[in-house]
Amino acid sequence: MAEKAHAVLSASGSAIWLNCTKSGELSALPDAPPRKDSVFAAEGTAAHELAETCLRDGKNADLFLNLDFNGFSVSREMADGVQIFVDHCRALTSGSAYHAIETVVSLQALWEVEGKTCPTDLYGTADFIAYTGDTLHVVDLKYGVGIIVEAVNNTQLRYYGLGALLHLAHEGFTLPNFVCLTIVQPRAHGAGGPVREWTIPTIDLLLWADTDIIPTVEAILSGNTAYKTGKHCRWCPIAGRCPELRKDAMQIAKTQFDDVTATPPDPGLIPLDELGAILAQAELISGWVAQVRAAVSHAIDTGKTVNGWKLVPKRATRKWSDDQGVLEKLSQTFGSNSVGEFCTEPKPLSPAQMEKALKSHGHTLAEVGLDAAITAESSGTTLVPDEDTRSAAPTGPQHAFENADL
Ligand code: SF4
Repeated sequence: MAEKAHAVLSASGSAIWLNCTKSGELSALPDAPPRKDSVFAAEGTAAHELAETCLRDGKNADLFLNLDFNGFSVSREMADGVQIFVDHCRALTSGSAYHAIETVVSLQALWEVEGKTCPTDLYGTADFIAYTGDTLHVVDLKYGVGIIVEAVNNTQLRYYGLGALLHLAHEGFTLPNFVCLTIVQPRAHGAGGPVREWTIPTIDLLLWADTDIIPTVEAILSGNTAYKTGKHCRWCPIAGRCPELRKDAMQIAKTQFDDVTATPPDPGLIPLDELGAILAQAELISGWVAQVRAAVSHAIDTGKTVNGWKLVPKRATRKWSDDQGVLEKLSQTFGSNSVGEFCTEPKPLSPAQMEKALKSHGHTLAEVGLDAAITAESSGTTLVPDEDTRSAAPTGPQHAFENADL
């Protein structure tokens, strides 16, 4: 299984370095913090490996249930999620003039067309590309669950799209007129569903290279850089040591606290029109604090001392080391007929899982009378900024009493 390739000025980090050139410059230094690797990223890698195997071997994801990918056992949720991506890519493959799976795409040819040499590595790995009709499709699998990633204006997808166009040209194809950039995010989506697309004219993508990619890369490599704080700081690998972010955070704190040792002001006493602005600023601070926390943890974990802090084990949760062995012990003690008393009740699969399971038996939910048994209930509301594409939830006193038993 090919490991994903990343350059310092990578596609996945492009929203950061295109906004803040100083981040690009500092990330390239030898003492820059390593890319963040979390259990979520490792799980995402597992999902990508499963998707690649399915596409290359022509198999469906549920054939790999309970098998290990990157240290994760394939769950029903992972198999169903990856299958959405696999089905989407397969539909694009039929009738395509060209397609490629997990392909390294590079932007270096942007310099070569002018007889120059690209001054740095500029490449990323596109999950799937297909050239169909007059459109180049670039499909990216996102297995994350926390934040909905939109396709529109997504710089990572633009980067892959541009690299895929250069790749096609290198393979001798005439360039298409359109590029369709798609995100498949099975575990986080709003009204747009798990597959979200954005189609742009090829010429716009090529112009973006001239207006944004080339000048920004050259500015970073010549040291003509500047800090620019914003939402992108949340993902910046050097946020924990960024003086500009620290300055912003201190400035924000000063506007809210006359004395940093004082009790924070009661939000209930702050006018509503100020609360929204404070929350937007607090998001910036909390991102920075998370980076500082990560940097301190990493330092202690690697044997350094940070005054006033230490690492302790998280609370351990107990679990059976061998489920089968537990059942056998219970059976020996109470008899096999009584084992059920000590097990969880059988539970139907979720509607999505059931749909899939029934499909393999040649049935639909409606055919077995289960469609009417489905309810969709939100577990509550989430506070997000205005630009989030989801529709606002109904709120206010009328809604609050809607379901009340009066
Ligand atoms: S934290 Fe923000 S301002 Fe600082 S280097 Fe990173 S992106 Fe730039």
